[in-house]
Amino acid sequence: MNLAQLLVRTAQVFADRPALYLGDQLVCDYRGLEQRVAHVGGYLRQRLHLQPGDRVGILMSNVPEYLEVLYGCWFGGLVVVPINAKLHPKEAEYILCDSGAAALFVSADLAPGMEPLLSGLPDLRAVLTPGTPEYSALYRAEALTQAAHSERDDLAWLFYTSGTTGRPKGVMLSHGNLLTMIACYIADIDMPQAQDSVIYAAPISHAAGMLNFPHVMAGAAHIVPVSAGFDPAELVELAAHRGKLSMFAAPTMVKRLVDYIEESGKGASGFKTILYGGGPMYLEDIRQALRVMGDCFAQIYGQGETPMTITALGRYHYRNTRHPRYEQRLASVGVAQSFVEVRVGDASGMPIAVGETGEVLVRGASVMMGYWNNPEATARAIRDGWLFTGDMGAMDEDGFLTLKDRSKDVIISGGSNIYPREVEEVLLQHKDVQEVSVVGRRDPEWGEVVVAFVVARRGAALHAKELDALCLCNIARFKRPKHYRFVEALPKSNYGKVLKTELRELLAAEAAAVPQKIQAVS
Ligand code: AMP
Repeated sequence: MNLAQLLVRTAQVFADRPALYLGDQLVCDYRGLEQRVAHVGGYLRQRLHLQPGDRVGILMSNVPEYLEVLYGCWFGGLVVVPINAKLHPKEAEYILCDSGAAALFVSADLAPGMEPLLSGLPDLRAVLTPGTPEYSALYRAEALTQAAHSERDDLAWLFYTSGTTGRPKGVMLSHGNLLTMIACYIADIDMPQAQDSVIYAAPISHAAGMLNFPHVMAGAAHIVPVSAGFDPAELVELAAHRGKLSMFAAPTMVKRLVDYIEESGKGASGFKTILYGGGPMYLEDIRQALRVMGDCFAQIYGQGETPMTITALGRYHYRNTRHPRYEQRLASVGVAQSFVEVRVGDASGMPIAVGETGEVLVRGASVMMGYWNNPEATARAIRDGWLFTGDMGAMDEDGFLTLKDRSKDVIISGGSNIYPREVEEVLLQHKDVQEVSVVGRRDPEWGEVVVAFVVARRGAALHAKELDALCLCNIARFKRPKHYRFVEALPKSNYGKVLKTELRELLAAEAAAVPQKIQAVS
């Protein structure tokens, strides 16, 4: 089934319900949204002569037109290639070239940066920018009368992974993959209702955009914030005004929202479901979040290769405060989602004992069809039907998975494995620590040593000694950071993930500079 059918059905059942808002301004109802979508599809298929399976690049910040472009492409049987709006134009150019995109939707803020590179993209037939007369002409193109038929395994979304090493790879997600993801969301996270709203405070090109599906199905309202991004004051106001507001947020955004609500004294009423994921949520932070905002949270663990669909921590578990392992569960990423199998395995994929740390493996209908034009990488990632996630974790006897770290983030010091997350959890117990990130630095004696980057709470004076004492009370001596770096802020992606690679690079660059300095002195 084509994903566009979700919208077609809702436009029939809930034609007059408000579909899309910019802030508190209504843009269109579901009937209007479907009409726009049919025109976008008509333009791409009939004017540009794109064929089913052709790729369409979407390089847009969060603008109200995002949804009509996504569904317009699917309506026409085309494949969307949403691109992270924060990428350098040259990185976007690589993705457009690699995917062979035949058309590009680019928002007005990003169009000037792309302009000089467009002539180098031979497959590109048209570039469209919302708000321009050319874009408005789309709405006058002959509309498609019905959505294209798509099979379960037809490609719907090419998702380029952030790729910390080498070039990003295009993850091939089919209509069936995404339908499975939606089924898991409804079973394990939330069943949206027509009175609900979903707000896109994080990039629609990524996890936040995935929330559109269950909310389209329900006939709920979609809100693009006026700030086009994450502004805690705007969110709190909209939540109070609309009520039943759901959103996706990276854990670092949840923390900022919670801090804002706590400091401003504003209420947290109006939030229905705040779904977090994409990076570690520390125990101290989720405890504070529950205290300040109440029981409106759910967690999801996934990755581009099985979008949003590995494990989940649902409402029930946050409420089950009397369970003897409540705290461990809060610090975990929950249990396998309803329609996938999850296992912790050894290097060959065989399951390992309960409580042992190994690689997280996933099998099920949400797992990607492979990497675009890259069978070698596909064969490395999917073996015997299992997706090897590259994440290290351990499962308890009840099936709760605790993530340790990405295998590449594990620090090996003096031959022992140190999982940064464990050290970070301890440091965050200090009342003056706002944020922390632990990475390894190359060391001639130990292989690697542990370095902690720490952001202190505003106005607090933090000392390495206090933090070291805290570690001594809580973790083995060899896991303690050898160095502390007090910084104003941690580098983050626009999805709110802490960029450990940048921290490691900073340390490597400093280490490379030191011998030169010594040489210069001698
Ligand atoms: P991406 O493919 O860019 O969405 O990144 C996926 C990676 O983010 C996963 O492989 C994990 O390393 C990390 N991740 C996703 N969700 C969580 C979560 N709930 N807790 C901790 N890490 C997560």
